Amino acid sequence: MNYYAAPIAKLIEAFTKLPGIGSKTAQRLAFYLLDMPQNEAEELAYAIINAKRNVRYCEVCSNITDNDRCNICSDPKRDNSVICVVEDPRDVVAMEKTREYKGLYHVLHGAISPMDGIGPDDIRIKELLARLGDDNVKEVILATNPNIEGEATAMYISKLIKPLGIKTTRIAHGVPVGGDLEYADEVTLMKALEGRREI
Ligand SMILES: [Zn+2]
Repeated sequence: MNYYAAPIAKLIEAFTKLPGIGSKTAQRLAFYLLDMPQNEAEELAYAIINAKRNVRYCEVCSNITDNDRCNICSDPKRDNSVICVVEDPRDVVAMEKTREYKGLYHVLHGAISPMDGIGPDDIRIKELLARLGDDNVKEVILATNPNIEGEATAMYISKLIKPLGIKTTRIAHGVPVGGDLEYADEVTLMKALEGRREI
């Protein structure tokens, strides 16, 4: 039985698909939106459409961007001899907040996880290897998360890179084990980066 007019029911249903939103919160958000000034609600709707239509992967590092190349890859001041490999675009933001790292990134969009059926071909490892053909790259920093999947991914990639003669390092365990990079505070992350070791 439907208590709400169809457009409201649809809005509530859409909200319940978001992470961490139960039916009560979904109702609250839907009614909040209905009470919002028309232009603000339309701006929100437009922001969603715009982000979905225009955001894509950077052709170099797979970070999210609204251009062919992300701001970092197109910045001539960045050090293109170092590539920091992360699992998620949010990890790039976390690393950038340290203001310590001046190299480039590579976003894998996941980690190897046999339990979840995610193998090496399901994340952007091929794209990383393709970048290493370039003589500029002197170091690859593996900054995947310090959990089982992140460690397995770092080991897998380091084995592939070793024969290429490129220095491969792993960030130190300043980041809490089992934690996500994106939740580490800036100082912890900076220390983890400084304390990286060759593997
Ligand atoms: Zn990029």
